[in-house]
Amino acid sequence: MKHVPALIPFLLVVSLHSLQAKQDDPSPLAPVVFTNVTVIDATGTPARPDMTVVLTQDRISALGETGTVAIPSDAHVVDATDHFLIPGLWDMHTHIADIGTYPRSRDIFLPLLIAHGVTGIRDMGGDLAALTQWRKEITTGKRVGPRIIASGPMLDGPNPPFPQSVSVHNATEGRQTVLDLKQQGADFIKVQSLIPRDAYFAVMQEARQHGLRVAGHLPDQITATEASEAGQHSMEHFIGWLKSSSTVEEELIQTVSIFDLFQKKEPVQRLLSTQSKEKEEALFTRLAQKRMWQCPTIVWMRGLSHIDENTFPADPRLDYIPASWVAAWRVTKEERLLAGRSAEDIAAGKQYFRTLFDLIKTAHRAGVPFLAGTDTPAPYIFPGASLHEELALLVEAGLTPMEALQTATRNPALYLDQQDLLGTVEVGKIADLVLLEANPLEDITNTQKIAAVVVGGKLFSQSALQALRTAAATSAQQG
Ligand SMILES: [Zn+2]
Repeated sequence: MKHVPALIPFLLVVSLHSLQAKQDDPSPLAPVVFTNVTVIDATGTPARPDMTVVLTQDRISALGETGTVAIPSDAHVVDATDHFLIPGLWDMHTHIADIGTYPRSRDIFLPLLIAHGVTGIRDMGGDLAALTQWRKEITTGKRVGPRIIASGPMLDGPNPPFPQSVSVHNATEGRQTVLDLKQQGADFIKVQSLIPRDAYFAVMQEARQHGLRVAGHLPDQITATEASEAGQHSMEHFIGWLKSSSTVEEELIQTVSIFDLFQKKEPVQRLLSTQSKEKEEALFTRLAQKRMWQCPTIVWMRGLSHIDENTFPADPRLDYIPASWVAAWRVTKEERLLAGRSAEDIAAGKQYFRTLFDLIKTAHRAGVPFLAGTDTPAPYIFPGASLHEELALLVEAGLTPMEALQTATRNPALYLDQQDLLGTVEVGKIADLVLLEANPLEDITNTQKIAAVVVGGKLFSQSALQALRTAAATSAQQG
């Protein structure tokens, strides 16, 4: 199809500089057009310079070389010379509605996520009624925030260590919880470490019957082989990678909980001294074949294993964090993560993390599919900002910048079966976009140099993003 070049002299063309400095945000109804922009569409094709991208309503309606694409006469045109357009980012592991522990979550998370280009989240455990209400307000335009896919409370064992959990003692309770959550509007089911074996298999079966996917921790009592056979959709935090690659996997399933690995050196030593290359290869081959998504939350696993070093005394990101959150982080750190651990225990935790980190490239090359996630607001995992840390860590682990970018764009769309609507910069897709001041394929940390964000076709200029940050900071000051 041939596009008619547009030459409309009275068109309002604004440079990004003036957009940042003076312009009000355009009417949400006016089409937004980026001209002269380099498109990094996240399909894997190389960056394309000098492009024009037209957004009509909430969609990308046209895309082509600048000068070949018709520009609507009422469009708000942004000259994006020297800028880079990527898809909106997804944080695929959040807990934004643990309201008891983290007051004012709504007013901190929703603006900060958008300000950091995070236009979608997979919430892995939180207050479902709150999440549903926030999502409704976002969808109807009452509130600014990301797209939210949510599990509601997590299905854990009889004594759950975390809030926002349901204790499940047996298969009957597991089935009933799935039914309850289905009725309450959960998008999927989240399983945790301590869920009993019989309950787990009952949950998998019940969820399948009701069209719900199950994601989460690989439970302590379940092998990766069993979980992949049962159809678990994703595994979090690398859980099970080393157990499944151990020659004494059965013994470890009986004796070692994930929580032990960041507490005592003995289980780590047992794990690391029994690794088998053959078993590791078999695991990654299986995860790749079964398309069992891995959301390692590297930034949080690193934070957890290096918790003795993390103080963040003058981190500017703390401006957006209420004092009550920092207090909760300190309690978790001092009373749960550091208490009773020797220097050797802490060193073993670091070795555990390092071993997993070094396996990411191997797993990725074997075809294991990855998602970017952070576990925010785990201690010192900052809303929005930490997703960019996760991308940088994925590159450090051996992914290319494009592959890392895909873990937060194209891959979440594939995971959610929304690849026709989300995840790439292509005609017909929903216009969730991030405009960057520098090329993320040259340096992945350039994803942090955000010039503008588009959510469902609505443009947030630099000044609008600053207003979101200010709103979060004001909320945070209330403690
Ligand atoms: Zn989590």
